[in-house]
Amino acid sequence: MQDYREAARLDALHQLKLLDTPPSEHFDRITRMAAQIFGLPIAAVSLTDRDRQWFKSRVGVEHCSIPRDKAPCAEVAETRDLVVIEDFATHACYADSLLAEHGTRFYAGAPLVTREGYGLGALCVLGVEPRIAKPEELAALTDLAAMVMEQIELQHSFGRIDPISGLPTRAQFCEDLSDLALDCPGQARIAVVADLARDDQIAKIVGAMGAARLDEMVREAAHAIQNVLGPNRTAYHVGTTQFAFLSPPDMEVQAYITVLERGFEVIRATSSVRFVTSVAIGVRPFRLGEVTPEDVLRGAASAAQDARRIDGAIALYSEARDHAMRRHYDLLQDFGAALEAEDQLRLVFQPRVDLATGRCLSAETLLRWRHPTLGEVSPGEFIPIIEQTALARPTTQWVLEHALDQLAAWQAAGLDLTLSVNISAANLMEADLIQRIQLALIARQLRPSQLEVELTESAMMAQPEKALAMLRELAEAGIALAIDDFGTGHSSLAYLQQVPAHVVKIDQAFVRGLSSASGADFVLVETMVGLLHKLGRRIVAEGVETAEAAAILAGMGCEEAQGYWFARPLEVPAFAEWIASRTALAA
Ligand code: C2E
Ligand code: MG
Ligand code: MG
Repeated sequence: MQDYREAARLDALHQLKLLDTPPSEHFDRITRMAAQIFGLPIAAVSLTDRDRQWFKSRVGVEHCSIPRDKAPCAEVAETRDLVVIEDFATHACYADSLLAEHGTRFYAGAPLVTREGYGLGALCVLGVEPRIAKPEELAALTDLAAMVMEQIELQHSFGRIDPISGLPTRAQFCEDLSDLALDCPGQARIAVVADLARDDQIAKIVGAMGAARLDEMVREAAHAIQNVLGPNRTAYHVGTTQFAFLSPPDMEVQAYITVLERGFEVIRATSSVRFVTSVAIGVRPFRLGEVTPEDVLRGAASAAQDARRIDGAIALYSEARDHAMRRHYDLLQDFGAALEAEDQLRLVFQPRVDLATGRCLSAETLLRWRHPTLGEVSPGEFIPIIEQTALARPTTQWVLEHALDQLAAWQAAGLDLTLSVNISAANLMEADLIQRIQLALIARQLRPSQLEVELTESAMMAQPEKALAMLRELAEAGIALAIDDFGTGHSSLAYLQQVPAHVVKIDQAFVRGLSSASGADFVLVETMVGLLHKLGRRIVAEGVETAEAAAILAGMGCEEAQGYWFARPLEVPAFAEWIASRTALAA
C-alpha cells in the first residue's frame, strides 16, 4: 500500500513535467520572499523525486539537487505537513544528515500538495544558526507554498485547458487517450467530434456580433455537451468550434449513434444554444492502442467534415474518404515545395492540328508533376486542389514563364508556333495578371499574338461579370483567348456573344463519342459548330481519338482538332520530333 501511494505520488510529480526544467522568475520571486520573511540566506522550492530532492527554485544554494535520503523536504512531501528542525545538531534523525554535515542548523518546510492530495515536496528555508520558527513565519511560509502550488497548476494547465470553454484541450485528449491505451489495450471505443458551425457561419457571427459573442456561444455549447455527457465523461475542446469525446467501452456503433442523436436533440432543444443547430458529427470506432490519438481525432474530424458535406447530422468514418482527404491535404501541402524544386514540375505540349491542311500551328501547354514519393500526379487531380488557394498565382506564373522560355527557344530554332496556357478562375482576380503576361512576353521578345490563354467555360461562369471585364482587358492587350471545355459550363448565348474569345474548344465529352454521322453527340457537336461559327469563333475539337472522329469534325467545318489520334501531350524532345516528321510528311 505504502509503495503504491509513493508510486502514484511520483507519477503525479512526473506528469507535471517540472523536473529538470530551467529556473523561472515566477518561482524565484516566491523563494526570495520566503528567505526575506525568515531573514535567512537559504530558501528553495524542493521537489521530492524517486531518490533526490530537485530544486525548481533556489536562493543561496549552489546544487540543483541533493540525495533524498535524510533530506527533511522528503519528510514534508511524505507527511504533507509542516516540518521544523530548530537545531540539526541535537536532532535524533537529522544530526548526521548531509545538510548537517555542511553546516545547516535550522530548517522549516511547508508542504507542496496537489489538489488530488499528493505531496510533491516543500517550500523550505534553511539557516546556519539554531533558531525557532514563529507561528506567523510558518503561516506565511504555508501561504507561500500555496502560491507555489498555484503557479505549478497554472503552468501545467496552460495549453491543457482551453481558456474560453474551460474544457481540456486537444493536447490533453491525446495524452488521456495514450494513458487509456496503456490501461486497456485493445478495448473498443468510439471517438466523436462535434463541429458546431461552418466556417462561413463563424465568420458571420464574428462579423455581426463580435468575437466575444462567438466565445460566449462556444462556452454555452461546451457546457451543453458536458451536461449531456454527464459528470463521469470528459468533453474536450479540440478546435475553435470543435468538441471531442469518447464513448464508454465496447459500445455497438449503431446503438451509440442513436444515443448521440438523442443527446444532440436535447442540446438543440435548449433554446440558449441555437448556435449548434448546424452541428455536424463525426464518429470513428477504433481499438485503444491500435491507432495513434492524433489519428483517432483526425479520423473523427474528417468524418465530421463528411457529415457537413453531405448535409447530414452524423457521418461514420470511412477509410477511403479519409485517404482521399489526406491525399488532398498532402498534395496541397507539397505543391508549394514543388514550385520551388527544380525537378518536380515540367511542361508537356500537345499539338493542335488544322483539319483542312493537316498542319500544326499551335500547341497546348500542359503541366506535369512528378511528386517525390507519390510519383506522377495528374493535373486533373492537383489543379482543382491548388487553384482554390493562394498557390493559383505562382502556379500560373511558373507555367507562363516556362512556356514562354520554351516558345522563345523554339522560335530561335526556326519553329513558328502559337502556344496556349491554361489559367484558373482565381487568376482573373489578380489585378496585375495582364501586366505580368506582357512583361513575360517582352522579356523574351515575343509577340502577344504568339500566346493564347485558355479559360474553362465553368471558370468563367464562376464570376461572369468580373471575368468579362478582365477578358476584355486581355483582348485589348492583344492576347488571344480560348474558351476551354465548352459545353460543360452553362454560359448563356447572350453572355457568350460578349466574351472576346477568338477560339472555342469543344469539350472532349462530346467529341469522344463521335463515330458516325448520327447519334446524340453528332447532333450536339454539329449544332455547337453551327452556332459558334455564326458567332464568328474558330473551333477546336478536344479529345479526338479516332480517324473517324477527325473526319466527321472536318466534314462539319471544325477548324482544328487536338487529341490522341494526332498526338498525346509530348515532352519537349518528342514534340520537336513530332513536328519534324509532320513537316516531312507535308513536304
Ligand atoms: P484541358 O485544358 O482541357 O486539357 C486537355 C486534357 O485532355 C489534357 O489532360 C490532355 O492530356 C487530355 N487529352 C488530350 N487529348 C486527349 C484524348 O484524345 N483523349 C483523352 N481521353 N484525353 C485527351 P491533362 O494534361 O491531364 O490536363 C487535365 C486538365 O488539367 C486540363 O484540361 C486543364 O484544365 C488542367 N491543366 C493542365 N495543365 C494546367 C496548367 O498549367 N494550368 C491550369 N490552370 N490548368 C491546367
Ligand atoms: Mg486547356
Ligand atoms: Mg479542355
